[in-house]
Amino acid sequence: TEKKEMGWNFDNSYAHLPETFYTLTNPTPVQGPKLVKFNTELAASFGLCAESLRSDAGAAIFAGNEIPKGALPLAQAYAGHQFGHFTMLGDGRAILLGEQITPQDERFDIQLKGAGRTPYSRGGDGRAALGPMLREYIMSEAMHALRIPTTRSLAVVTTGEPIYREEELEGAILTRVASSHLRVGTFQYATVYGTVDEIQALANYTIERHFPEIESASNPYLSLLQEVIKKQAKLIAKWQLVGFIHGVMNTDNMTINGETIDYGPCAFMDSYDPATVFSSIDHGGRYAYGNQPVIANWNLTRFAETLLQLLHNDEDQAIKLAEKELKAFPSLFYTHWTNGMREKLGLFQEEPEDKALIDDLLNAMKKYKADYTNTFLALTFDELDGMVLFASKEFKDWHKRWMLRLETQEEPMESAKKRMRNSNPAVIPRNHRVEEALEAVVEKNDYRPMDQLLQMLEHPYEHTKDQTEYAKTPVPTGSYRTYCGT
Ligand code: AMP
Ligand code: MG
Ligand code: MG
Repeated sequence: TEKKEMGWNFDNSYAHLPETFYTLTNPTPVQGPKLVKFNTELAASFGLCAESLRSDAGAAIFAGNEIPKGALPLAQAYAGHQFGHFTMLGDGRAILLGEQITPQDERFDIQLKGAGRTPYSRGGDGRAALGPMLREYIMSEAMHALRIPTTRSLAVVTTGEPIYREEELEGAILTRVASSHLRVGTFQYATVYGTVDEIQALANYTIERHFPEIESASNPYLSLLQEVIKKQAKLIAKWQLVGFIHGVMNTDNMTINGETIDYGPCAFMDSYDPATVFSSIDHGGRYAYGNQPVIANWNLTRFAETLLQLLHNDEDQAIKLAEKELKAFPSLFYTHWTNGMREKLGLFQEEPEDKALIDDLLNAMKKYKADYTNTFLALTFDELDGMVLFASKEFKDWHKRWMLRLETQEEPMESAKKRMRNSNPAVIPRNHRVEEALEAVVEKNDYRPMDQLLQMLEHPYEHTKDQTEYAKTPVPTGSYRTYCGT
């Protein structure tokens, strides 16, 4: 009865897919599970009982030592283009427990990341380190608070077991939550290892789970392609607008439902530069900030290729249909992005000069290495000092044009300012803040800086005094590097 009281309500629809797509796999139990982070608010929205999950019994579940009633653990198969090279992958260290059906009748995957080896582990140990799992917790929750579709984090446990990378690290498991873990790479896997019937089964499953409204469309698979393109255009625009750099936009790390997934080497841009890259392994800048829309389009093209046999029985016709949809991506993206930029600048109406107004500001920001987030904050609160940018002629000219737009638009200035406050975050997970928080945990077992950071990130559009103070510390200069795979 204890398990029942926890509120688990599992369904396992993924296990009804053809067996090609997964392998039933149990987590490997660990020595000493200890719950170090728990997302009370998320748990409540899932109908889970925080009180009983915070117990040893809860920690045992989040560690994979106990399988909750109704769960059917499995590892998902998928492939993917990693930095352009096609590879067979699959969940090498993640195990899906099942799908929690919430009191609102929504369906969310509950997955343990770092839960031990699976048939897809290749040379890996199936484990994860505490620092990176807490980093994912912080980044994913920050993205959610910024109103960006994302996987979320329900809990982190330490395992009581060391893991070995270049050094000995503390082992941990993250409980990741997603509307599904269907990826572009899942479809790529289907075209390599599956029959046409299996590709179709996967497409039908995806439509039923995420896009039921297109089930009766005249060509549901073409509609599926359209919907996925639309979701990605919206998602990538949101990333660009907050300066988020994913860092490893491989096709296996792009979800079909348009949620941000796989928080490895991601980071937020400080000073504005489209060429910004943080990941230590992204030498060519393939996944640079300014390249993200192009890469998304490239990934979507790989997705479209997997659907060709379903789109039309004549291949040339199928290609034509797919190409037409893919061509729509740049303008879909651009529309979302300019709408977002207008909001950040307090503008309500669309005008022909918007493009020049936005581009000229960004060009000046780039020239004077202005901090992306802080520039928009300064504009929002009329605090135009302390940055080289603001003293420049380019900026002063631009500012006059912008003020004129604000003054001549119908809506009062106060509405414009409100619009700006609502789209320019007071706090983002700054690299130095995230590092400082993780260092305190890993080196001193002190969770206070992390808890403070999470608290500051929770309502980024509130602009409280505390947030403003917290965000004021100068951003350290010098290059920042991120790493994946620990
Ligand atoms: P990522 O770069 O995070 O997308 O991971 C690429 C692939 O490597 C995925 O299939 C992961 O499951 C797998 N992987 C990453 N770390 C490990 C590990 N420690 N053990 C086994 N597989 C891993
Ligand atoms: Mg991945
Ligand atoms: Mg990863």
